Amino acid sequence: MSEIKQTLAAVQAEAKRCLYCVDAPCQQGCPAGVDVAQFIRHLRYADVQSAKRVIKTANPLGGICGTLCPSENLCQKNCTMNYCDAPIHIRDLQKFACANAAFRPELAPANGKKVAVVGAGPAGLGCAAILARLGYEVDVFEKGSAAAGVVAKEIPAERIDAAVVENDLAELAADTIRFHYNAPVDAARLEELSRTYDAVFVGAGLAQDRISGVDIAEGAPVVGCSQYLADLKSGATPSVSGTVLVVGGGDSAIDAVCASLTAGAEKAVLAYRRSRAEMPACDEEFFSAADKGVELMYMVSPVAIAKTAEGAAVTFVRNRLVEKPGEARKGFEAVPGSEFTLNVSRVVFAIGKKADTTLVAGKVDPDTLRVEGTNCFAGGDWLSGGATVVKAVGEGKKAARAIDAMLK
Ligand SMILES: Cc1cc2nc3c(=O)[nH]c(=O)nc-3n(C[C@H](O)[C@H](O)[C@H](O)COP(=O)(O)OP(=O)(O)OC[C@H]3O[C@@H](n4cnc5c(N)ncnc54)[C@H](O)[C@@H]3O)c2cc1C
Ligand code: SF4
Repeated sequence: MSEIKQTLAAVQAEAKRCLYCVDAPCQQGCPAGVDVAQFIRHLRYADVQSAKRVIKTANPLGGICGTLCPSENLCQKNCTMNYCDAPIHIRDLQKFACANAAFRPELAPANGKKVAVVGAGPAGLGCAAILARLGYEVDVFEKGSAAAGVVAKEIPAERIDAAVVENDLAELAADTIRFHYNAPVDAARLEELSRTYDAVFVGAGLAQDRISGVDIAEGAPVVGCSQYLADLKSGATPSVSGTVLVVGGGDSAIDAVCASLTAGAEKAVLAYRRSRAEMPACDEEFFSAADKGVELMYMVSPVAIAKTAEGAAVTFVRNRLVEKPGEARKGFEAVPGSEFTLNVSRVVFAIGKKADTTLVAGKVDPDTLRVEGTNCFAGGDWLSGGATVVKAVGEGKKAARAIDAMLK
């Protein structure tokens, strides 16, 4: 997907292509509910300030989403212009507006009620921002030392500028939101928070990398994707060398394989068990990885990892696709006798993450995100099992509205 040049003239020219559709299919494709036609109209007349106000009123992390949103699957997928030309470059327009104007949210007078938020990721921040605007006192408890969750900790700096994250954080209504860092919350502490606060929102994300289905020798250099990306980003792993193998086919796998090249790997190989057609990674990320020289292996699964002097010897089997009755996505099965071995310096598993399900007990109502029979609410990746920044923000907002309705 080509980017529009980030100049006001180019942005205005792009905004002029918009049809300002009355039914706003683009807005329906935005999990944060940004009034897309409205902000594009402001940009058309060079009113960047108003455009930013429209975006940030609906999406407190509008700057981050203007950079990271997989818009080809969201607002832009729904754009009416798809039927006659290219879709409007909505994400780029949002990025421009957020980078070129300031925003200060309007805050209602304090209402004397307080809410605790567990996790300062996109879901927690979305919830905290909306509650603060409604006059709630908000305490955010974050187990790490910084806000923005995966965006700050794991997503490589070459994909998200730290200044964009800082700007969104500064515009959150930070005077009224108290952040408590290095403050992990477990089930007992959550119980205490639910007694001392009027409501609690849990946006704890996904805590643990999955590493499974493979026989791994003790001491073999195997790491989960989140840990790997976080270590590269924090400098705990300053560089890598040799051939890095990443197992997986989603956007995190693409980040890990690209980050390996940036960190010094001579070769970075992505191994995926099905074909490109089944791969979850979006086209934009996939083609950018291919352009960087990442090597791709399709239809293979690792079955055993042995420790070697240089790193690891990974035994793979080749797969073939099989139709699965009643399922659109094809399954796969191993081809007998197809084993082969690849020598690598380290293996990164990017096959998903697990939520800490011990934190919240009980069923979550999908309409309100309220945990049945409690004053706790939950959302974001913790609930969905892994989605997008904008979906997490949308769920944080949804919970904030439900909390407000409960406490009114
Ligand atoms: C490598 C990678 C790349 C991605 N790329 C994109 C992308 O390009 N575009 C996109 O839209 N999405 C992307 N995503 C997905 C996106 O980052 C997530 O969907 C989003 O961050 C989810 O937000 P969240 O708030 O639910 O969880 P998180 O971002 O995980 O935040 C949860 C926060 O809670 C804290 N926490 C956890 N447990 C506790 C506890 N017990 N007590 C206190 N605090 C706790 C964590 O430290 C963290 O700060 C990517 C994800 C990964 C892993
Ligand atoms: S669907 Fe496309 S053309 Fe219509 S208002 Fe939205 S961005 Fe503009």
